[in-house]
Amino acid sequence: MDRIFIRDVQIVNPGGVGLMRGDLLLEDGRIAQAAPTGEIFPHGKEVPAEIREVDGRNRIVFPGLIDAHVHFRDPGYTEKEDIMTGAAAAAHGGFTSVIMMGNTNPPMDTPGRIEDALKRAERTGVRVYCAGNVTSGMQGRELTDFAALRAAGAVLLTDDGLPIRSEALMEKACVQAAEQSLVISLHEEDPVYIGQAGINRGRVAESMGLDGADRMAEISMVRRDIAIAARTGAEITIQHISAKESVELIRRAKAEGVRVHAEATPHHFALTEEAVRAHGTNARMNPPLREEEDRQAILKGLADGTIDMIATDHAPHTAAEKARPFPEAPSGIIGLETALSLVYRELVLPGILTWSQAMERLTAAYDVYGLPGGMIAEGEPADLVLFAPDEDWTVTEETFRSKARNTPFLNEVLPGVVKMTICGGQVVYEDGGEV
Ligand SMILES: [Zn+2]
Repeated sequence: MDRIFIRDVQIVNPGGVGLMRGDLLLEDGRIAQAAPTGEIFPHGKEVPAEIREVDGRNRIVFPGLIDAHVHFRDPGYTEKEDIMTGAAAAAHGGFTSVIMMGNTNPPMDTPGRIEDALKRAERTGVRVYCAGNVTSGMQGRELTDFAALRAAGAVLLTDDGLPIRSEALMEKACVQAAEQSLVISLHEEDPVYIGQAGINRGRVAESMGLDGADRMAEISMVRRDIAIAARTGAEITIQHISAKESVELIRRAKAEGVRVHAEATPHHFALTEEAVRAHGTNARMNPPLREEEDRQAILKGLADGTIDMIATDHAPHTAAEKARPFPEAPSGIIGLETALSLVYRELVLPGILTWSQAMERLTAAYDVYGLPGGMIAEGEPADLVLFAPDEDWTVTEETFRSKARNTPFLNEVLPGVVKMTICGGQVVYEDGGEV
């Protein structure tokens, strides 16, 4: 276990609580001491040689981030990503906790599969959690055994990648999930409204001769599932919000006391359908990028807390798959390694969120899913990310720890550099370092 002393660093916690600047001593995987600069090792008292000292000047330290929505493709599609490379990408991006979606092959619909994935995830250095499927084989016909999945370690339920089409089954799932105190996380796209998936039905699709995915695909299911959550008392998360109408539905539901959470991805708050013209299949995702009014509504939703979580929907695919013609390419882009810089560029620098508000959105999932982490304070896990706000970096093919390169942000210069990620007191990523 590393012992680390971070000297004189700006500290940002969600909600702006706690110390604003100071020194941190990490021991036994926890934050042993957090104190104003110079108090832990005052002048004349040397830092012992066995403690690694890190200069915190010109750095911000955040709690290790959590991404409640990643696809590590393991088992079944490890040519795209695996648990080890996915976790390395997380560490590079400042994420110390991730929740893997269950659309693997085989999918995460039995306790044994979840136990196996969690066992393999133990060696990654970061905290890797598993979602369990809502329905067997993600077929949308029969519910899985929620109690058994929970006992095996599932931290939420989802058929992500697919919607739960049957309203009756969704209602039954909500009743049972509430009994198990599990949140259901929902990919809201009714295929009835989708011609061509991965691109908004609108101007850009038309110009490319494609039909597109209508916004009603999302709106109709968000409306239905908010109503189901309201009448069953279940807690749900609406994943990767893309349409302005969905933001408004969630805003009203929250005001009425419905237990609903919402995710926004960096791509949905940074880009519109226009990105498909420039980046083709690397801007193809489900739900699709939509219009500027939708993007503005997502920004507003993030600002007022309607959208309480930022999640990347990290979705690796191979270069060969993304080289196919648009209609045949798979949907999804990677996101873990660019997320924090995009939050900085799109939300913090324009003044939409303060850093502490941004941290609320990047750590809310700890509370929503009942996981440890999310706060810099004595006794908390030593899960931290050290960020250099005055530096920038160029996104190149070589930058990624992920196996995949499918991102529309390739070749951009992004502000802010993750210098070090620490999880459980261990350095799991260091800029220019070995790990
Ligand atoms: Zn999804």
